[in-house]
Amino acid sequence: MTFSHLGLSQELLKAISEQGYTQPTPIQKQAIPAILQGKDVFASAQTGTGKTAGFTLPLLQLLNNTSANKGDRAPRALILLPTRELAQQVGDSVRTYGKYLSLRSAVIYGGVAIRPQTQTLRQGVDIVVATPGRLLDHLEQKNLNLSQIEILVLDECDRMLDMGFIHDIRKILAKLPSSSRQTLMFSATFSTTIRQLANTLLSSPTLIEVAARNTASEQVEQVVHLVDRDRKRELLSYTISFHNWKQVLVFTRTKHGASRLAEQLAKDGLQTAAIHGNKSQSARMKALNDFKQGKVRVLVATDVASRGLDIERLPYVVNYELPNVPEDYVHRIGRTGRAGKEGRAVSLVCKEEYEYLESIEKLLNQTLVKEVVSGYEPSSLPVNSDIKRSPPKRSQQRRSNWAKSATPAKTPPQQAKKSRPKTTPHRLSTLG
Ligand code: AMP
Repeated sequence: MTFSHLGLSQELLKAISEQGYTQPTPIQKQAIPAILQGKDVFASAQTGTGKTAGFTLPLLQLLNNTSANKGDRAPRALILLPTRELAQQVGDSVRTYGKYLSLRSAVIYGGVAIRPQTQTLRQGVDIVVATPGRLLDHLEQKNLNLSQIEILVLDECDRMLDMGFIHDIRKILAKLPSSSRQTLMFSATFSTTIRQLANTLLSSPTLIEVAARNTASEQVEQVVHLVDRDRKRELLSYTISFHNWKQVLVFTRTKHGASRLAEQLAKDGLQTAAIHGNKSQSARMKALNDFKQGKVRVLVATDVASRGLDIERLPYVVNYELPNVPEDYVHRIGRTGRAGKEGRAVSLVCKEEYEYLESIEKLLNQTLVKEVVSGYEPSSLPVNSDIKRSPPKRSQQRRSNWAKSATPAKTPPQQAKKSRPKTTPHRLSTLG
């Protein structure tokens, strides 16, 4: 099936083909026709499935089919989402896919000056992509009027609720016309609260579930490295340098931890940036752009800051610390293996985190492969676990030599790299 079978207009097909998309993803196949028919949609789709184009393309087409309001050009579509980064990305998608249409859009989020956003809104727009808090500021200042909204999209609903946006969302909903509105809800997980919200907002929705609930993408190869907490940083530097990973997204649990780790990795000679809520919006955007362009090799992020990051073909994700909410593990590793590309997710797990590991495995309904890297053996191992620790003898021998010649605590990996023996692809694959 191609995009032209889905009933999309020539202008949109042209924009899609310029993106190099040849076939719709499963969620696009289901969502696009349903939305074009004017149906409400309740979709469980992880990020990386192509869900943004799944709702943006039909939304653009529907708005383009009906003419803009005369006079104040009040917005006719509202896309609400949890974070600034996601707002930027969805705003970019709206512009990219809508480049041959004459629809206007505005991207609204906090942490930046409000005045340029006010000017854009006052000039009149068709589509508003917004985070809830800043949108409410604009509503209070009467910079926009939501009475003409025809399509409402709630993207990454689960995360909006996790971030405590439910009251803001309710205040915004109260400003929208309740009749003849089409509503589209997207969520990676379906909690009871999400279902309740869906019951109050949606009318006879089309249900779409492209990935089973809480399953990790099959394209992501997952592995756990068991290691003591105080040796995680060495193991991380070693792994990145040894495998010559060029683009790695590393997750920590706290903002402080992210900054500290970024500093330590930089001292190890790895170009690193951190992205978290204490950083200014411009610093976050710079870090992300540098990472995308390959100027920065390692990006250390917290869960909230990472939400919505879409970096094409991100090959590696590292959980430097496991999240204490198991669903976050699924979101984190969803940053790799996106849109048909393979990815690898490595979790560095110390004994204090074995409990979190168990909860994650329970959620995934899957036992993760556990490995001990030679030279980084932890002081204690989880009970009843199958642990890979003996790579083939020759490799073991070579690796031990490397470990001896480059004691990571004293020798930064950059230096260590020079002294390590030549490797073969086979040998690399035994290390994981
Ligand atoms: P999303 O799940 O919306 O965050 O999209 C994940 C990635 O998939 C983005 O980089 C999109 O540009 C890309 N993408 C979306 N639809 C397609 C498609 N049909 N074919 C190939 N890539 C796509």
